[in-house]
Amino acid sequence: MPTKRPAPTSTTLIHDGRPRFVPGDGVPVPIVQSSTFIFRDTAELVSFFEGTHADESRGEYGRYGNPTVNALEGRLAILEGADDALSFASGMAAMTTTILALVKAGQHVVLFKDGYRKTRDFVTKTLGRFGVTSSVVEPGNLDELAAAMRPETRLVIGEAPTNPYLRCADLQAVAQVVRKTRGAKLVVDATLASPLGFRPLEHGADLSVQSATKYLAGHHDVLGGCVAGSRDLVSLVRELRGATGAMLDPHAAFLIARGLDTLALRMERHNASGVALARALEGHPKVLRAHHPSLESHPDHAIAARFFAGTGGVVSFVSSGGLAGARAVCDRVKIARIGPSFGGPQTLIEPVAIMSYFEQGPEGRALLGIEEGLVRVACGLEDTAAVVADVVGALDD
Ligand code: PLP
Repeated sequence: MPTKRPAPTSTTLIHDGRPRFVPGDGVPVPIVQSSTFIFRDTAELVSFFEGTHADESRGEYGRYGNPTVNALEGRLAILEGADDALSFASGMAAMTTTILALVKAGQHVVLFKDGYRKTRDFVTKTLGRFGVTSSVVEPGNLDELAAAMRPETRLVIGEAPTNPYLRCADLQAVAQVVRKTRGAKLVVDATLASPLGFRPLEHGADLSVQSATKYLAGHHDVLGGCVAGSRDLVSLVRELRGATGAMLDPHAAFLIARGLDTLALRMERHNASGVALARALEGHPKVLRAHHPSLESHPDHAIAARFFAGTGGVVSFVSSGGLAGARAVCDRVKIARIGPSFGGPQTLIEPVAIMSYFEQGPEGRALLGIEEGLVRVACGLEDTAAVVADVVGALDD
């Protein structure tokens, strides 16, 4: 059954799950920059392996755990409303390790169309080489999902909102379909909403996987990933992380933990700017379509309004000038920078056909449903009015 734990607030994000006093009496949990951890004697070693050691956060070897990383994971579990959480060197390290921990040859994986393309490539191309089959379904189409499920389906990987069209499926309804197949698990990546906007475990997901590179860390300066869920499932993933070595570095853990302190404040601005920009773009004479779940014209507006507390600062729109129009907007903005990613202070903009789907060419993009004139804007933390004026001004030029 879905878990329901108190929604995080600024206060809980800043205080919960962190020790009241740390070595050295500083405020943040310090960076323990060590690849191995020594024991006073063999009795201490035995108590560590028996799980009776007084210091639960101590490490053994850096690939399995580290006090700075462990402290972050405690906070991530609270943030996700989970029994347990694990951190990784990147969002993709989190996703690939999770998938590998749960799927074996002969099994089947269902993915959402418009999901993160590296996740899709990993399942369809890499795992395809190891005898795992896959199907891709429209995010909100429950009939298509039910038809795609097979007795050997082990995983359904959902995303909400998706990228770049910001689709928000009703994940509770998705979870009900998934549960009809024995052994099938629902993994949800809600990176674009952040856990303040949407906590997948409360909506029937078995595991929540996200890129901490984005809103959690929040400054465009570090890569990281997170998996949260029940102790049993997370421990399967933990075991494999020890073998794949996809562990988060302690300095990165420190930066992500620092990001959590300001997450609630930052999300207010990201969410507000996303809504304001989407409104300004919709109906603009040089915009064919604007995509953001806050818009009534968005196919998942009602679902987003019901289940999401915020859908983030990523907005996409289709320029009436096609690819040339999309490029012109990206070249004319003065505040936004051309670059991939989202979730940091600086607004980022990209012509999606080039930045994310260059290799596919126009035909490949058409097959994937990526329009040539699509522009993605990831609103940063600048003043909302300035971000809106920057993008609209570039369209008007
Ligand atoms: N999931 C989503 C929705 C993403 O947008 C991304 C990256 O853009 C990832 C996962 C992968 O995260 P990372 O870049 O931290 O590996």
